[in-house]
Amino acid sequence: MKPYALQVLAVLVLVFLGVSADLYLPTLMSDIINSGVMKGDTAYILQVGLRMLLVTLGSLCAAVLSSFFSSRAATWFTRDLRRAIFERVEGFSLHEFDKLGTATLITRSTNDVTQIQMVTVMILRMLVMAPIMAVGGIIQAYQQDKALTLVLAVAVPVLAISISVLASIAMPWFKKIQAKVDQLNLILREGLTGIRVIRAFNRWPHEEARFDRANQDITKTYVTVNRMMAFMMPIVMMIMNLTSLSILWFGVRRIDSGGMQLGSLMAFIQYAMQIMFSFMMMAMMFIMVPRAQAAAERIEEVLAVEPTILDPKEPQKPSGAHADLEFKDVTFCYHGAEKPALSQVSFHAKAGEVTAVIGSTGSGKSTLIKLIPRFYEVSSGAILVDGVDLRALRQEDLRAMIGYVPQKALLFSGTVAENLRFGAEEAPEAELRQAADTAQALEFIEGFSGGFEHRIAQGGTDVSGGQKQRLSIARALARKPEIYLLDDTFSALDFKTDAKLRAALKERLKGATVILVAQRVGTVMDADRIIVLDEGRVVGMGKHRELLSTCPVYREIAQSQLSEEEIA
Ligand code: ADP
Ligand code: MG
Repeated sequence: MKPYALQVLAVLVLVFLGVSADLYLPTLMSDIINSGVMKGDTAYILQVGLRMLLVTLGSLCAAVLSSFFSSRAATWFTRDLRRAIFERVEGFSLHEFDKLGTATLITRSTNDVTQIQMVTVMILRMLVMAPIMAVGGIIQAYQQDKALTLVLAVAVPVLAISISVLASIAMPWFKKIQAKVDQLNLILREGLTGIRVIRAFNRWPHEEARFDRANQDITKTYVTVNRMMAFMMPIVMMIMNLTSLSILWFGVRRIDSGGMQLGSLMAFIQYAMQIMFSFMMMAMMFIMVPRAQAAAERIEEVLAVEPTILDPKEPQKPSGAHADLEFKDVTFCYHGAEKPALSQVSFHAKAGEVTAVIGSTGSGKSTLIKLIPRFYEVSSGAILVDGVDLRALRQEDLRAMIGYVPQKALLFSGTVAENLRFGAEEAPEAELRQAADTAQALEFIEGFSGGFEHRIAQGGTDVSGGQKQRLSIARALARKPEIYLLDDTFSALDFKTDAKLRAALKERLKGATVILVAQRVGTVMDADRIIVLDEGRVVGMGKHRELLSTCPVYREIAQSQLSEEEIA
């Protein structure tokens, strides 16, 4: 049983006790007036008065405790919900991220969860309280005076109908708000992440107007909704007051004719108020629940997504020392894409060899790299590591073998050393230096005021693109993996650093499997194998010399970059 199930039970019991006490009080009061005050029996008044005091105290305690437990149960529940969402999202492959979108994942695990938390607290208390109070109140009122109950038979339906009419008008607006919050978040996010571009192109006024529109839009919706809600209160109050008035009107007549006692009339009015109040609570729930329902549906959507990439039940262990990598007829299609990003790609990258991938932008180079750590699942075909299908390995074991340097270098806030230790927490200082040295990063790291302890700002905004690339190469090197995936990591480097880095890497990467994506022919020239990609297809494979004579696409790329003498 979940830990909060017990608390929910406690809330239900407490609410029940509290409502019973509240329903008992008017009867006691009626007794005091009818049998005490009217007959001048002070002892009786004191005795029943004391009972009233105790019952009130009991009701108070029940209210405080039920508030406490319901708040706690709701917060615990939403904590677990957030955890569930986070764990689910963690298991997502990039495919699922593409499908849902990051912005909405954030709103769903913060905003929507809070909505649910608020409503859970309310429901826990009101869902039990309202019906008990309504039914109990009606029974008690009926016992006080049967004839007057007829007034309630008119007043309660009138109240119920007016509230539901108002609520049904307001409801669609509540649903609209959710979508508008999403829209506002999206614009805000774009404005913040794209701030440089927006400034450079002088688009602030445009962005401001766009934000303003969304902001105004959401404000208007809120105002409309609140206006409708504001209507509700006076209408309800009017109905309640009219009801009291009618009860008094008819009640006084009944007292005159001797059919009713004063105490019963006063108790009756109180019961009438309790009954109407409980109907109001029910109406509130009808308003709140659909809002929470919208939030719950959005969360459910996230939780219902089954990650496409799962660990096998009986995983095989990777052999360890080296890693041959083989693509067998691999085809891959992105979510929603019309044609595959990779078609029937086959090659064999042996341990100790450098396999270079070259091709124009959008030819599928990064896609090919991303399939190896299983960020995405191949649509058909297979990728083998040492003859074992990737899908037979645990993702953790697979990724432990890989040093991945993404095309867009990403650093985390923290020191240089912390960033380099990202995939190798235990790496000693000397190894960090070595990795940095190979990545041609040592020089500028030592130029920082704190050296390896220099703090990198959030998102690595204080280092240049080329420095970021070299730090992210060093991060991969520090891990000492069997497979290196370098996705266009030399693009921001000058030719001299590029050459020095490649020479140093050659030494360092001996024995490892290297897949290297590059734009420059100069970078791939001395690879053991060059794969030429064009629109997701392999249009050439071999060494530089062979490709120059056999592969027109490669020759074209070479001709655009190298001089005639270099090619010849
Ligand atoms: P390259 O790295 O060679 O420049 P990519 O592998 O990044 O090319 O992209 C290959 C193709 O796949 C491109 O047409 C690109 O538009 C498409 N693509 C890349 N990433 C995604 C994605 N997340 N969702 C849909 N299509 C994508
Ligand atoms: Mg790319």
